[in-house]
Amino acid sequence: ERERLARLRNTPAVTLDGQKIELLANIEQPDDAAAAVKAGAVGVGLFRTEFLFMGRNGRLPDEEEQYQAYRRAVDGMQGLPVTVRTVDIGADKPLDRSPARAGEDYLNPALGLRAIRWSLAEPAMFLAQLRAVLRAAAHGPINLLIPMLAHASEIRQTLALVQKARDQLDARGMVYGSVRMGAMIEIPAAALTMPLFLRHFDFLSIGTNDLIQYTLAIDRADEAVAHLYDPVHPAVLQLLASVIAQARAAGKGVSVCGEMAGDVAMTRLLLGLGLRSFSMHPSQILAVKQQILRCDTGKLATWAQTVLEAEDPAALMAD
Ligand code: PEP
Ligand code: MG
Repeated sequence: ERERLARLRNTPAVTLDGQKIELLANIEQPDDAAAAVKAGAVGVGLFRTEFLFMGRNGRLPDEEEQYQAYRRAVDGMQGLPVTVRTVDIGADKPLDRSPARAGEDYLNPALGLRAIRWSLAEPAMFLAQLRAVLRAAAHGPINLLIPMLAHASEIRQTLALVQKARDQLDARGMVYGSVRMGAMIEIPAAALTMPLFLRHFDFLSIGTNDLIQYTLAIDRADEAVAHLYDPVHPAVLQLLASVIAQARAAGKGVSVCGEMAGDVAMTRLLLGLGLRSFSMHPSQILAVKQQILRCDTGKLATWAQTVLEAEDPAALMAD
C-alpha cells in the first residue's frame, strides 16, 4: 500500500470531473520542507513559526535567526510558495517564559493573550518577525498568514505594523520582497464577518482545530470532553460552508489547514462544500490525493447539501 501511494507522488491531484485540487503541507521547522517536497506538496500552506520560539527558556529568536529559518524553508521549497504564519504562542503552545506571560497563568488560556493578540501586545517582537519574513520573501514566494484575528481594529493594527516593518527595512536600505496577506479564519466571529476579511486580505485559511473548539466550547486538548469535539457538528459545517462559499464568490483563495484537511474521512465532504485547497501534515498528502482521484465534485456537492441539512451529519458520512 505504501508503494502504491508513493507512485501517486507525481500524479496531479485532479478529480474525476477535472477539478484541480491544491495539496499543501503543514510544517513546524524549516527542514520539514524536504518532507513536503518529497510528499508531492505544491507548497507550504502553514508554517507554524511558534515552534522556532518554544522551548528556549524565553530567549526569543531575533530577526536574523528568523530570517535564516524562513529563508531555509523558502530555499527548501525550490520556488513553491511558503505560507508563513506569524507566531501563535499561548494556550496549548506556551513559551517557557514570555515577557507578557502569554496566557499561561490565566483560567482560560485559549481565550486569553495568544497568537495575534500576543503579537500586538509585543510590537517590537512582532516587527522583528515581520522584517524577517519580508526579507526572506526576496528569495522566493511567501504568503504571510495571521492567526486568531476577530476584530477590525486587530486587522488595521496588523496591516499598519506590516507597513512599518517595510519602512524600517527601507530606512536600513535592506532588500525585501512582496508578500500576499492572509488571515486565519478560526474564531466564529471571523467566520461570521467575512466581508471584513475579504476586503483586507488576499487569501484565507480556515483553522478548523480552533474553529471547532471555539464554536462548540470544547477545549481541543481536554480528554474529558474529547467525545464532544465534533468536526461535523451542524454548526461547524454551516460556518465552513459559508466561509468557503463567500471566499469563492469573492474570487479569493481559501484553504483548510486544520487536522480535518488531512483526515481522509473528511476529504469528500470538504470537496462537496467547495474546498479546492487542503493543507496537512506531509505524511497525509498521498492518502488524501488517492481519495481525490476517485471523487466527482458535482455529485459530492449535492450530497454535501444533504449532510449540511441533516440532524445527525455523522450518520451520512459513509454514504
Ligand atoms: C487550527 O486552529 O486549525 C490551526 C491550523 O492552527 P493551530 O492548530 O496551530 O492552532
Ligand atoms: Mg489555530
